[in-house]
Amino acid sequence: MNTVSSPKTDPETAPEIEIANSKSLRVVEVFGPTIQGEGAYIGKPTVFIRFGGCDYRCLWCDSMHAVGKQYAHQWAKKTAQQILDDVDVLTDGKPILITISGGNPAIQQLEPLLLLGKAKGHTFSMETQGSVSKTWFSMLDQLTLSPKPPSSGEATDWSKLDACISDAKTVDTSLKIVIFNRADFTFARDVAKRYPNLPLFLSIGNDETDPALPVNKEALHAKMRQLIDWVNADHWYDVTILPQLHVLLWGNQLGV
Ligand code: SF4
Repeated sequence: MNTVSSPKTDPETAPEIEIANSKSLRVVEVFGPTIQGEGAYIGKPTVFIRFGGCDYRCLWCDSMHAVGKQYAHQWAKKTAQQILDDVDVLTDGKPILITISGGNPAIQQLEPLLLLGKAKGHTFSMETQGSVSKTWFSMLDQLTLSPKPPSSGEATDWSKLDACISDAKTVDTSLKIVIFNRADFTFARDVAKRYPNLPLFLSIGNDETDPALPVNKEALHAKMRQLIDWVNADHWYDVTILPQLHVLLWGNQLGV
């Protein structure tokens, strides 16, 4: 698969600051076509747009190049049209499922991107931790809310997650939680009870996030078997357990 690389720009604004100007969308990378590796659309061909900036600092973040201020000088400022032009290069102009990722893409102003992209026939899926809500969530085709479990070191503001669900209106919305340990599993059980009407996907956390190092697939398989045991012991039958498919296929490699 291919990547449309982002030319380096000057680092000035902190990533946490909301980007209201559509001409100032901060793009880390546009890559694909590949497949969605987790959640409700696992296995679907897609192009990823990864935006820069995040209000969280998860201890096990595997996308620090889209989070840390030290990487901000590598992000490009692009208009919505320029981003869609990048997608066209990757798909030969064919419409595709576009997955919006980050960082936390919710801190961007993505209404112009969604308007222009839908006019070209693209569909849009987005993942966010649910800490920032936007009215343009209702323009998405699919929204994955991924509240971070205790192992992340971050705490969920439930009122903000509620606002995200409310702003998504009738959009296909699901929850995804990455599980590293038993405390994360307990957190996921509580989330399921809090949002009984939303599909919930569990993924196995990958302890090794350095792109230069291989993943320990045996350890991941063992953790997944452990998670399946916990789910079955709890008689929790309306949950879906998935691997992070991209990790199994490509390890920690970026841009796939
Ligand atoms: S919310 Fe996602 S992108 Fe932000 S720090 Fe956590 S894992 Fe990384």
